[in-house]
Amino acid sequence: MAVESARIRPVVIARVHEVALKGRNRRRFMRTLTGNIMVALRDVPYRSIKIRTGRILVVLENAEHWPLVRERIARVFGIQNFSLTLESDTRMSSILRATELLLEAEGPPSGTFCVRVKRPDKTYPLTSPEIERQVGGFIQDCTGAPVQLRQPEITYQIELLHEGAYITSRVHPGPGGLPVGSSGEVVSLVSGGFDSPVATFRMLKRGCAVTLVHFHAYPFVRSTSIEKVVELAQSLGKSQPEMRLVTVPIGDLQRQMAISCESEMLVVLYRRLMLRVAEAIAHEYGAGALVTGESLGQVASQTLQNIRAIESAVQLTILRPLIGMDKIEILDEAARIGTEEISRTPDDDCCTVFVPRHPATHATIEQAERAEAPLNIEAMVRQALSGRTVFEGNPAGWNVMRALRQDDASEPPFAPIELSEELRRPEPTKSV
Ligand code: ATP
Ligand code: MG
Repeated sequence: MAVESARIRPVVIARVHEVALKGRNRRRFMRTLTGNIMVALRDVPYRSIKIRTGRILVVLENAEHWPLVRERIARVFGIQNFSLTLESDTRMSSILRATELLLEAEGPPSGTFCVRVKRPDKTYPLTSPEIERQVGGFIQDCTGAPVQLRQPEITYQIELLHEGAYITSRVHPGPGGLPVGSSGEVVSLVSGGFDSPVATFRMLKRGCAVTLVHFHAYPFVRSTSIEKVVELAQSLGKSQPEMRLVTVPIGDLQRQMAISCESEMLVVLYRRLMLRVAEAIAHEYGAGALVTGESLGQVASQTLQNIRAIESAVQLTILRPLIGMDKIEILDEAARIGTEEISRTPDDDCCTVFVPRHPATHATIEQAERAEAPLNIEAMVRQALSGRTVFEGNPAGWNVMRALRQDDASEPPFAPIELSEELRRPEPTKSV
C-alpha cells in the first residue's frame, strides 16, 4: 500500500502566544526562542530551523526522534503549544505512508478518532470526504481504533496544498512563559530546600537566564547539600540547558562569626554575608537582580523585620517570587516541576551551623550592623569568593568532587574552637 519512494519530512511546529508577539520585541523574542530550541535539541539530528509568523518550524532528520524532541520542547519557555506534522507529496500513497509514520511517532489513538481534510487546492482528483474515508480506514486497519465523527478524542488534520500534504494529530501544550534570556540575567540563591528551586523555575519562566549560587559549610557538615544542588541544576537545566552554578564554602566564616558575634543574630548575619557574596557574583556576570525562595512568615526567621535587616546589606534588587505562597502551594509546584524529590533528601543546612535554638526573629538594621561591627566584612566576602567553585555548561557532566577540594597546604584562616556536640551537628531542618 505505502510506496517507499515517498518524500516525507517530519516537521515540528512550535507556536508562541500572540501576546508575546506584540510590539518591537517580537524579532528578539523569536530569535532568542529559536536559539533556545537549538540548544535544547543540540544532540538531536535536525535538518533546519526557521522562523515563520508566530511559529518556529524544525525539520527533523527522522520522525523516530519525536519522543525525545517532544520531551525537550515541552520544557522550552516561550512556547505555547507544539505539534508534529508529517509533510509529503500529494499522492494518496504518500499521504498514507506519512500517516503511518505519524502513528508510529505519536502512538495510536487512545480512543475514538476522526480525519478532517482541508483542501484549498480544488484540482486534486479526490474530494475531501473521499480522502477522509481512505485515511480513516487506513488508521482503523493499523490500530483498530474506532471512528467517531462527533467529539472524537483525537482528530487527524490533513491540509492539502498545491505543493504538498500536511498531516497532524495532537497539539501538545508548551510551558508558556518567555524565552530564557529574553528578560536578562539574575543570580538565584539556591539551598537544598524546597523553596529556592521553585523560585528559580519561576524566574526562568519569566525569561531570566539564571546563575545558581549555593553556600555550604562543608567540611563542618556533610556535602549532601552540594550534591543536591548539582542535581537540582540538572533538573532546572531542562529549561536552561547551559547552566552556571557557583558553590561557595562559608563554614570558616560562619565559625568566625560564631566566635565574634551575638549568637541570636547569627542567622541574619549569615544571610547578609550570602547576599553580599551573591551581589559580587552578580556584578561579575552582569546580572541585574538576586532571587531568593523566601515566603513571608513561613519560618520564624522570614518576618518583615528580618527580611529588611537582611536585604539592607546589599544594593541590588532582590526578587522573591514565592513571597505570597504557602508551603503546600510551593510543594505542589515543586512536585510538578520535578524538584520536590531531590529537595526531599535530608541535608545539613549551613544556616543552622553554630546557631542557637532561638535566633532573632525581629532584627533591626541597626542591630545587624552593631552585631557585625567586630568583623572585617570586605575581607570575608573576598575570602568567600576566593574559595568558590564555578560549574558551567551542561550540568549532566558536572563532578561534585570539584566543589569539595580542600587546600590542605594552606593555614586554617581562623583558630579552631571547641564546639559542643549540639552545635557541631545541626538538626535536620526540612520540616514540611
Ligand atoms: P529553601 O527551601 O529555599 O531553603 P527555606 O524556607 O528553607 O527556603 P531559608 O532557609 O530561611 O528558607 O532560606 C531563605 C532563602 O535564602 C532560600 O530560599 C534561599 O534563596 C536562600 N538560602 C538559604 N540558605 C542558602 C544556601 N545555603 N545557599 C544559597 N541560598 C540559600
Ligand atoms: Mg533553607
